[in-house]
Amino acid sequence: MGKVTTVLGEGQTGFATTKFDALLGWARKFSLFQYPFVTACCGMEHMATAGPRYDVERFGAGAPRFSPRQSDLMWVVGTITQKQAPALKRIYEQMADPKYVIAFGTCASCGGFYDNYTTVPGIDKVIPVDVFIPGCPPRPEAVLDGLILLMEKIQNGDREPAVLPPQKIEPLVQLRAKQAQDAAKTAK
Ligand code: SF4
Repeated sequence: MGKVTTVLGEGQTGFATTKFDALLGWARKFSLFQYPFVTACCGMEHMATAGPRYDVERFGAGAPRFSPRQSDLMWVVGTITQKQAPALKRIYEQMADPKYVIAFGTCASCGGFYDNYTTVPGIDKVIPVDVFIPGCPPRPEAVLDGLILLMEKIQNGDREPAVLPPQKIEPLVQLRAKQAQDAAKTAK
């Protein structure tokens, strides 16, 4: 897969070259039709991303399709049981190619705290996954970061599974540093 390179500056005329697959990747990443496979409590945060505050539509990935044949991005949101696994696989197989999968939350990514015989310990045991978003549940900001990560992967033609790294929320980092300082003072 190639990269898009800017060869013309503002006000310049002429022509620009690119590779067809790079152009296709650029177009695809802004035109994702999602199929929400929502089973559990993470669904609340999935809905939050669709609201005006987080507005997933800005990324061209807002419109849900309730037929897998019209979808190319499956969000697996929540716990997947062994009984649901065949249905998940079948729906994935019905989706249009090229298709992408996001594991939304800890349960979808690894089974979460349901360490038992009824729960699938991660949906990658059933279908391929492009991006894992940890969190129980992940905050909408993390969900959008995961979506942006997927968009970058689509642009670069990268189909290797990726895990969204932990977020550094600045006020939280400062708060924890202050708490550590206070605790050290109290201990003296
Ligand atoms: S990760 Fe947490 S919030 Fe999400 S489905 Fe599992 S238990 Fe519920």
